[in-house]
Amino acid sequence: MAVTQSQQDEIDALRNAPRSTLRAVSEGMEAHLYKAHSVLDHGFVRVIDYMGDDAAICQAARVSYGKGTKSVQNDEGLIRYLMRHWHSTPFEMCEVKLHVKLPVFVARQWIRHRTANVNEYSARYSILDREFYIPQPDALAAQSTSNNQGRGETLEGDEAERVLEILKSDSGRAYDHYEEMLGQEGQKGLARELARMNLPANIYTQWYWKVDLHNLFHFLRLRADAHAQMEIRVYAEVICDIVRDWVPAAYSAFEDYRLGGAQFSASGLAVLKRMLAGEDVSQDNSGLSKGEWREFQAAIGSADP
Ligand SMILES: Cc1cc2nc3c(=O)[nH]c(=O)nc-3n(C[C@H](O)[C@H](O)[C@H](O)COP(=O)(O)OP(=O)(O)OC[C@H]3O[C@@H](n4cnc5c(N)ncnc54)[C@H](O)[C@@H]3O)c2cc1C
Repeated sequence: MAVTQSQQDEIDALRNAPRSTLRAVSEGMEAHLYKAHSVLDHGFVRVIDYMGDDAAICQAARVSYGKGTKSVQNDEGLIRYLMRHWHSTPFEMCEVKLHVKLPVFVARQWIRHRTANVNEYSARYSILDREFYIPQPDALAAQSTSNNQGRGETLEGDEAERVLEILKSDSGRAYDHYEEMLGQEGQKGLARELARMNLPANIYTQWYWKVDLHNLFHFLRLRADAHAQMEIRVYAEVICDIVRDWVPAAYSAFEDYRLGGAQFSASGLAVLKRMLAGEDVSQDNSGLSKGEWREFQAAIGSADP
């Protein structure tokens, strides 16, 4: 189970005690508040708190008092303009605080996003749960032959079974030894801060993660991308769904200009112009490297001639 019974009790208690407020409220986000969205085998993402909505972005952009908006259409247009022109500070007026449970190797990628506030479960004070990420069989893949930083074909049959068995038995054995080192009846036991050192990177940790919308979009742009590792991408995708409900206009602009959009270098743009003028451009006469050419073609959805 992703959430423990006491966490579920806490969620139920919080959701059963609504309060009235004068603050800006996003109805879409209210539906998510406190609820845990399952991710991977034991992980979750839940919204603990948030500040602001689409109108707050416009209000800051107009530096006005009050609602700061003339019509929904105006707000959407303004938000799209801000996104298009990288006018990012109005998006920083919205913030979200998430409680995330995730494997340690995913946390290592996540923590690289420095523009957030983090408070992590302490394995110096507390004993970690016996919870390890064990991939679904279809997520067990071989090293990619074309991308050093990715995975290729799915492992099958005996090989897949053997790998799963190794993952499970290593995790279990490491946890048994962790418990053993923490001490038995009549023993002193090793300190928690030391006993944890033999635990593998697929054990779960938890943290509170607070970030503003601008930096969250930056995180999502990188981690919801098809090239991101699947195990962090699934978290980013859940957060995308939450953000879509929280700030629909801002998310729609982000989806259009960042997630679904493409950026061209000056040389890439020159190639595109030559193509639009009817010229037959190949990698050889494009001036682009092989890698750039591959990415350029992927961006314009074209196969190699
Ligand atoms: C597909 C992929 C592969 C990766 N591979 C590797 C890898 O092999 N090895 C590795 O080490 N990392 C790797 N990373 C991590 C990557 O290099 C970044 O550290 C990570 O994506 C966080 O990005 P960021 O620094 O822009 O984000 P944040 O830390 O959130 O920063 C956001 C922005 O704030 C600014 N900023 C924040 N802090 C500073 C600062 N101290 N000084 C100046 N500007 C700052 C920068 O403009 C930055 O872009 C990878 C990331 C991805 C998405």
